[in-house]
Amino acid sequence: MIRDNLHRIQQDLSGTAARLVAVTKTHPVERLREAYEAGARLFGENRVQEMAAKQSELPADVQWHLIGHLQTNKVKYIAAFVHTIQSIDSLKLLLEVERQAARHNRVIEGLLQFHIAAEETKTGLSLPEAEEMLQSAEFRGLQHVRLTGVMGIATNTPDEDQLRREFRQLRGYFDKLKALYFPQDEAFREISMGMSSDYPLALREGSTLIRVGSAIFGSR
Ligand SMILES: *Cc1c(COP(=O)(O)O)cnc(C)c1O
Repeated sequence: MIRDNLHRIQQDLSGTAARLVAVTKTHPVERLREAYEAGARLFGENRVQEMAAKQSELPADVQWHLIGHLQTNKVKYIAAFVHTIQSIDSLKLLLEVERQAARHNRVIEGLLQFHIAAEETKTGLSLPEAEEMLQSAEFRGLQHVRLTGVMGIATNTPDEDQLRREFRQLRGYFDKLKALYFPQDEAFREISMGMSSDYPLALREGSTLIRVGSAIFGSR
């Protein structure tokens, strides 16, 4: 069943340049192995301890994406292996990722998480906050973190007009930051948006990374 679900989603992705992050939070390692054997390579988890435990049990070519809020004091638990932290929401966090990645002699990729949803509870940066970060001297000194794009979580709603507006807003943030701060940087190219219920719409609005859990693994 995992295989069929992955296959269906891969078909939705064909003809786009977007890739799938299989969101595996709360699911046991056996189900991750099943997804791996069916071809999934990018896995998303929202908790540090859970991700570290699973990482040690899966093949080394899995790309681990952290998709949940990350406290600075926990970066050290994933710095040795995490591929992308999709939830960068402060300069303080970026500086700690820099410090921990340097200890492991690695470069960790990061996406700036923006607040695009109507719900107050969904965290993330505003555009002015992100720009302040990108203009700071500290940001320019980073050598072990590479920002590769933006991420956002849309409102949990069936209202397609609202979802489209939110995805377009995130796309607009990406375009603006790309033009102003990363014009020559080919690595800055990701727009992470779209989940089980709304990824087809996100793909139409230019998503390059969809984060899909329940449509692959069933409800949590
Ligand atoms: C859980 C989660 C997802 C996946 O949600 P589904 O509705 O199960 O596809 C995507 N993004 C984030 C940030 C999540 O926490």
